[in-house]
Amino acid sequence: MLEDKNKERTPLEQLGEFGLIDHLTQHFAIQRPETVTGIGDDAAVLDLRGAETVLTTDMIVEGVHFDLAYMPLKHLGYKAVMVNLSDVYAMNARATHITVSVAVSNRFPLEALEELYAGIQRACKVYGVDLVGGDTTSSKTGMILSLTALGQVTGANKTLRSGARPNDLLVVTGDLGGAYMGLQVLEREKEVFKVNPNNQPDLEPYSYIVERQLKPEARKDIIGLLEELQVRPTAMIDISDGLSSEILHLCKHSAVGCHLYEDKIPLDPTVIAACEEFQMDSTLVALSGGEDYELLFTVAQGDFDKIKGNPHLSVIGHITEKEMGAQLITRSNAQIPLTAQGWNAF
Ligand code: ADP
Ligand code: MG
Repeated sequence: MLEDKNKERTPLEQLGEFGLIDHLTQHFAIQRPETVTGIGDDAAVLDLRGAETVLTTDMIVEGVHFDLAYMPLKHLGYKAVMVNLSDVYAMNARATHITVSVAVSNRFPLEALEELYAGIQRACKVYGVDLVGGDTTSSKTGMILSLTALGQVTGANKTLRSGARPNDLLVVTGDLGGAYMGLQVLEREKEVFKVNPNNQPDLEPYSYIVERQLKPEARKDIIGLLEELQVRPTAMIDISDGLSSEILHLCKHSAVGCHLYEDKIPLDPTVIAACEEFQMDSTLVALSGGEDYELLFTVAQGDFDKIKGNPHLSVIGHITEKEMGAQLITRSNAQIPLTAQGWNAF
């Protein structure tokens, strides 16, 4: 869990900035036909051939967005790419390229950055995207990572947050709340470790939710699935901050309301078990716990037959007129307005 004191530690000064960039990027192969010139010149050159280009960027800061006490650097690299690709897929686009900018303090040896880049490289390989640039600089404290992702989409497939219409069905991929409950487990183990460093945590019963936190996967597969099913979502957003907050964004941008049914929210049994153990409400966890990186979208009612019964997709509600507001319909059939924090009980 913590730093291995026996590991080799090469100070970054030993390589210099350019030596470091060369070293970290040497094993990244170009995979895509659009990449004319990748890393190494003043700018990358891409031939994007007519399709519309989507571009998104995210910055994550040590101590704010991640904690290296339980986040292995390899996982951090992988996750940083997932966070960005998820935004590309949320446009119903295909991710093609990323850039990675990193600021590190001298606390980090070369071996730490090698781990980080091993995770980035793995993500590039699995998701078929090219790393085509970045920037490398120093920081006074800690690590800051800023990634940019590019993707391509045909005009007809492009899916904004603003296209949801009354009577559309509200659909979510996968299951929710896992990443948040994984974080609860990791935070608890960190406290135990502080008290007794010899204690080896048994995370096995929590492997699914810990993995959801440490190694999330962006839903590239859903973009392919939607095409296969010939379903064009009317609106889409990725779930980074919790279902409730994302539903509210979607409703606001589309100028609509919605009914979300509590009993339809997909939860993994491990999430339900962890919620019981931590005495948390699983609905609240799904609504407010972040970092699931699932997709939330709306489809016309006529598409119901194409998606029903699909193991990756759950219909969790429907869109209403704006005046009705965004409402959670509870298991006891009460109607409660959704808020960014989950719901407003008053
Ligand atoms: P410049 O001085 O023109 O900004 P740099 O020396 O910073 O150029 O970068 C040289 C090349 O290496 C560029 O192609 C840049 O995009 C790439 N690069 C720099 N840092 C990174 C990094 N951390 N990861 C990937 N590529 C990088
Ligand atoms: Mg530079």
